[in-house]
Amino acid sequence: MIIARSVSELRAVLDTTKGSVGFVPTMGALHIGHRTLIEAARKNNEYVVVSIFINPTQFLPGEDLSKYPRREEADFKICELSGVDILFYPDTDMMYGKDEVSILAPDVRGYILEGASRPGHFDGVLTVVMKLFNIVRPTRAYFGKKDAQQLALITQMAENFFMNVEIIPMDTVRESDGLALSSRNVYLNTVERQEALKLSAALKKATKMVMQGNLVSEEIKRAMEEILTPLDVEYVAVVNRRFESLAQVVIGDTIVLVAARVGTTRLIDNMWM
Ligand code: AMP
Repeated sequence: MIIARSVSELRAVLDTTKGSVGFVPTMGALHIGHRTLIEAARKNNEYVVVSIFINPTQFLPGEDLSKYPRREEADFKICELSGVDILFYPDTDMMYGKDEVSILAPDVRGYILEGASRPGHFDGVLTVVMKLFNIVRPTRAYFGKKDAQQLALITQMAENFFMNVEIIPMDTVRESDGLALSSRNVYLNTVERQEALKLSAALKKATKMVMQGNLVSEEIKRAMEEILTPLDVEYVAVVNRRFESLAQVVIGDTIVLVAARVGTTRLIDNMWM
């Protein structure tokens, strides 16, 4: 595995390659969720590039940027064992200059749900993904459905800017008890870890209601909120794949989402129906 810390190093390596490039952008603290993205990239492309970059522009003031988990050595090992060809590991000065042009998330989709809780977050996400795509020039890029709104906005950006990349959505990987894997789960203590199960339990309840034929969004949300009590719930939502609010679940075109704080840790999860 080659570790490239600069754009020129990465380009020099990529210039010697021929064939498809699968790309997995991450912020590190890699877990099995990230590994499944890397494995899919490995299976379907000649080269696999992973980036590890904790992108400061997607954190709002007061968010967990400085204490975001950093696991350099373990991450390098995981990438190596997963068959990554090139690990792009830039620092902030490599990625950003002063007074830059940046990408703006769309007015509606970028500012509801996650975007309402974290205004400006998606500007930072889209800007860094645009930079990374231009650096890596991937054939395919792999993103988790766990970050559903991020996935929708990146897919939209690729379309809106006629970018020559295929965005591949990947299913959420969960612990055996249902908790969606997340780098932020390390913040949870034992009691909170148990409380966090309320998110996946609420989504399971939503799935059950839909399977039993109850498609009414308000009823589903109410049942979920009951299960989520007493967590500090930021939102429960029923939307279609374009993130438009739905009064009724449309099977094959619905995402049920939840965001809640467990202690001081903010967790998100969702179910695609
Ligand atoms: P992050 O390092 O949190 O920025 O995540 C990097 C990529 O991994 C994003 O596309 C995430 O959606 C994806 N990801 C994170 N958690 C999971 C999970 N539990 N299952 C599948 N993909 C995930």
